[in-house]
Amino acid sequence: MTPRSLTRREFLSTSAAAAAIANLSPAAIWPEAATADQAPAIPAWASNPMRWFQLTLVEDDPIHYDAAFWLDYFKRTHTEGVCLSGGGCVAYYPTQIPFHHRGAWLGDRDVLGELVTGCRKMGMSVLVRTDPHATYDDAKAAHPDWIAVDAEGNPRRHWASPEMWLTCAYGPYNFEFMTAVHKEIMTLYRPDGLFHNRWDGNGICYCIHCVQNFRNAANLDLPRNTDPVDPAYIAWQKWRRDRLLALIDLWNSTIRTINPESSCIPNNGGGALSSLDSVECSNRAPMLVADRQGRSGLAAPWLIGKTAKEFRATMGAKPIIGLFGVGLEEKYRWKDSVTSDAEIRIWTLEAIANGMRPWCSKFSGTLHDERWLAGVEELYAWTEKNRAHLVHQQSLARVAIVFSQQTAWQLGNQAQAKLEDYALGWCQALVESRIPFEMVDAQLLDPAHLAAFKLLILPNIALLSDAQCDQIRAFVARGGSIIATHETSSRNPDGSARANFGLAGLFGVDLAGKPEGPMLNSYIRLEHDTEPASEFFRDLERAPRVINGVNRLPVTPREKFAHTPFTLIPSYPDLPMEKVYPRVEKTDISCLYLSQPAGRVAYFPMDIDRTFWEVLSADHLHMLLNTVLWALNEPPVVTVDGVGLIDVNVWRNASSISIHLVNLTNPMAMKGPFRDFFSVGPLEVRFQLPIAIHAMQAQLLVAGTGAAVKSSNRMLSITVPRILDHEVIAIDV
Ligand SMILES: [Zn+2]
Repeated sequence: MTPRSLTRREFLSTSAAAAAIANLSPAAIWPEAATADQAPAIPAWASNPMRWFQLTLVEDDPIHYDAAFWLDYFKRTHTEGVCLSGGGCVAYYPTQIPFHHRGAWLGDRDVLGELVTGCRKMGMSVLVRTDPHATYDDAKAAHPDWIAVDAEGNPRRHWASPEMWLTCAYGPYNFEFMTAVHKEIMTLYRPDGLFHNRWDGNGICYCIHCVQNFRNAANLDLPRNTDPVDPAYIAWQKWRRDRLLALIDLWNSTIRTINPESSCIPNNGGGALSSLDSVECSNRAPMLVADRQGRSGLAAPWLIGKTAKEFRATMGAKPIIGLFGVGLEEKYRWKDSVTSDAEIRIWTLEAIANGMRPWCSKFSGTLHDERWLAGVEELYAWTEKNRAHLVHQQSLARVAIVFSQQTAWQLGNQAQAKLEDYALGWCQALVESRIPFEMVDAQLLDPAHLAAFKLLILPNIALLSDAQCDQIRAFVARGGSIIATHETSSRNPDGSARANFGLAGLFGVDLAGKPEGPMLNSYIRLEHDTEPASEFFRDLERAPRVINGVNRLPVTPREKFAHTPFTLIPSYPDLPMEKVYPRVEKTDISCLYLSQPAGRVAYFPMDIDRTFWEVLSADHLHMLLNTVLWALNEPPVVTVDGVGLIDVNVWRNASSISIHLVNLTNPMAMKGPFRDFFSVGPLEVRFQLPIAIHAMQAQLLVAGTGAAVKSSNRMLSITVPRILDHEVIAIDV
């Protein structure tokens, strides 16, 4: 590392405590920091690379593409890990395995070997990519049982390349043929790991192996549809998950007989909607790659940040790699397209700000459009220059949103509407409010996983076991706060309805009747008379009432609540217009139940978070934020004053605190196709030090200047004059 040439702005706290601890190591200053022996053992090939590049060759690349160009580009971008095309659909080396299709333009060459050698010379980590999802007529003729079969018993053609056949992911094609492929690649090239694309099947397969193996495991016939309440479908989902984990275990054990430090890196999604168990997948890999190549439909750039948080929930300190593409995808899959520099940049900046290491994914070694090259190079160079502030990070967020795969699996194709949209509402509200947050897996609600957080948000987490409810009660008993909405804890782990909320005691209310909704033309009354100047009315001082959510559960309070800032105005006719008048002005039905058994508890019986994501009412934003600030009951770790839509993340490592500010202020902010950036500033950033520590100096890592730091007790104030796309405030401690 070259020493920084910045002006040294020593900041000395006036507090005596700061002087007393000035000689302590950071680990002693932050006793909750993970020590080296607690950290997971991660091989260097996975822990070292800060930048990855995936070059996915197309079949005719061997006669068109320029390997020297790519090796030079990897060098110029300081790329430290690569993912290179190996085999599966197309082998890019002279394979000896029958039916492993050698590339038609490969000739006698070993394209994979040439690239592996070139990258190893530059000291890079090397993953080899395989894709087993399709094969050819010769394989089908010899092994008809390798092919995926539809519900009518027909082998399935590939939808996009009709000369190919879809393979069965759960039978001998993956378990035997691809195992042999992986063994051959590991033997010939000894890569650090294998990256598996489209390895997890194409839905339900009715081949002879699936019929038999599922019957042996579940004593059932394969489901005929994907109805989430069909016992056969529920059992098939579990069988599939177990089968795919067994496949990863088999591939790992096979390649580790050759290279003990190697690992399979399965490409699969994260978060509630992922079909594989995130905890189990995380346990099997030293790093994971979060594949969010770009936007599709409505996709705010902060979504890649949410993905990072979801992976971190189960990966902990292990590296999380943010896979981004340079093209425009949508459902039309323009795989050779290039989107604007600004769009590529905002996705990547969001990934980095949220703790990911970037992984640029390029399909086709033959470039049809070179416009993206310079932008990625510049961005990668910046991460190298500022490496010290981007490694070994731990989030300082005090707020976490819970996500629940078990709830999503039970909801099936309704999971987006009945679960994910609730979480998206909270994410939008917290990003708009500039409150750093993390995501927490509902399987990991033990004290260790919740230790960093003061506030847990449960957005319609319907399925919670008694044990999970106990963990949440214990969190509140330890002084943690929760905000829960709508149907949270109303169902058992098998999806059946509970007679009462599992968390009824915490909420202080009992379930009382059938769900209501969708409710049209219903409102929430703000009780200014009985709750004058309530903190829940901040920025709603002049609002007599606001729109309601759309779905609610009737509940009966167990006792009279001390504060009832919001009450229900029930639906009344919305047509004909002559009939549109409230039938009752006021009820005593609360819309927000507030209590403080130890930590603070706020329960909304309606879907205010989901409604916020659907209609984005500013009134709901204020209600959500005010509830967060009440429940948090401590100063936010960071506050940012000034106009703009800014995603804020706060990190620390052994020697510095870094505050990432990503400027999302843009007419395209909610959909993502940025053309340009619109600068904001000045911003006044205030940071609450965890304890009184000696802050040495602050730098603005994008502006490349030092920053004036004002201090008052444990509060640091820093002015950021201007942000174009992003800024990172690095405070040495
Ligand atoms: Zn099958």
